[in-house]
Amino acid sequence: MRKRIAILGSTGSIGTTALRVIDGLNSSPGKEGKFEVIALSGHSNVKLLAEQVRRYRPNYVAVSDVDCVEEFRRLIEGLDVKVLAGAEGLTEIAGLEEVDTVLAAVVGVAGLSAVLAAVRKGKRIAIANKEPLVIAGQLITAEAKKYGAELLPVDSEHSAIFQAMQAGRHEEVAKIVLTTSGGPFRKANPAGIPDASIEQVLAHPVWRMGPKITVDSATMMNKALEIIEARWLFDVPAEKIEVMVHPESIVHSMVEFVDGSVIAQMGSPDMSLPIQYALTYPLRLPGPAKKLQLDRLKTLTFEKPNPQVFPAIEMGFEVVQKGGTAAAVFNAANEAAVGQFLAGKIKFGNIVELVRRCLDNHIIEMNGHGQNARDTNASLEELLEADAWAKKEVTECLKNHQLR
Ligand code: NDP
Ligand code: MG
Repeated sequence: MRKRIAILGSTGSIGTTALRVIDGLNSSPGKEGKFEVIALSGHSNVKLLAEQVRRYRPNYVAVSDVDCVEEFRRLIEGLDVKVLAGAEGLTEIAGLEEVDTVLAAVVGVAGLSAVLAAVRKGKRIAIANKEPLVIAGQLITAEAKKYGAELLPVDSEHSAIFQAMQAGRHEEVAKIVLTTSGGPFRKANPAGIPDASIEQVLAHPVWRMGPKITVDSATMMNKALEIIEARWLFDVPAEKIEVMVHPESIVHSMVEFVDGSVIAQMGSPDMSLPIQYALTYPLRLPGPAKKLQLDRLKTLTFEKPNPQVFPAIEMGFEVVQKGGTAAAVFNAANEAAVGQFLAGKIKFGNIVELVRRCLDNHIIEMNGHGQNARDTNASLEELLEADAWAKKEVTECLKNHQLR
């Protein structure tokens, strides 16, 4: 039977790759793994969104940037498609009755309420949009259990862990090893990194991705976010998570079991593979991902990340241990700081500095309220409040010129 899919963020890097994966699945022989595109969403790239609508003929489209809706309507004049506007439109298509699979590929906290809507309708959610899991992982995973929703990781490391986990039982897991390419500054002189230009930061050595995650990969905030993501997706404590730099980006992550067996998932660095696996799981079907040529791989190397060069990784562990609203603050401060960096307002080195400052100030703030972040089982309202607080705190820090 054909699966019916909604793609949230279809105009982005993951969204466009997913449509290519679906093209491949739909045109291959056999009955399995076929998808009907029921709904798409874009934010501001309405030209591409309109092209996608002409090609895939979805029943619904959400244009989340309300300022772009009029232009979009003009571009699709005469087509029979229901247009939904704003953040509410995005949430609505995530919960549509006629959809069984939702690909969450929006960037940032903007995807949170749509992910929750899909979870509460018991859908299969192929989740690339890691920020909602970082902020509200506890809530999302608990609700998924309650409503019978399936969370299938798209992030390549988490897809690898998900696959490796199938080799043993949860209580047999000794540790999870998240790999990272090391980003563009792995070999750079640490003294020069804080002043890196936007061009240098966006030149990722392995992956072509959207701008936010590319900046996150350069600061290693991406790995910190992935530590938190892994904590919730796989229900493991911080002590059982390790990060390993693996510049070849062939081993996408590993699970070590108590008997010493290490199960790794390997493949070309190509997002079409984890996207397809999340869509067709438990089936494995032929797809567009480049195949590995093992005889061309001379070496696979692994090294521990240098905490002096990449302090963000330790912050990721710290946030997992703190719990409560810490991850919401961490994520929001980062989102705001990355926005400021991409707008040319702050230096690259200021991103991690701002996140550190917000985390420290948040702890002072929490204690002022007589609370302990570690013990709080934060509600959605508290998490969103923490998100807003951290974004405001970043603005305050900039206004008061408190940066190095
Ligand atoms: P892109 O920036 O390429 O795409 C983001 C998508 O979200 C676009 O469709 C964009 O619309 C839409 N969008 C932007 N802002 C908003 C908003 N405020 N409300 C609703 N929609 C919005 O990002 P990526 O595809 O690279 O990443 C998407 C997610 O997947 C991120 O969370 C990222 O961390 C994660 N991820 C990405 C990987 C990759 O290889 N790219 C790998 C692993 C995880 P428009 O373009 O029309 O404005
Ligand atoms: Mg990743």
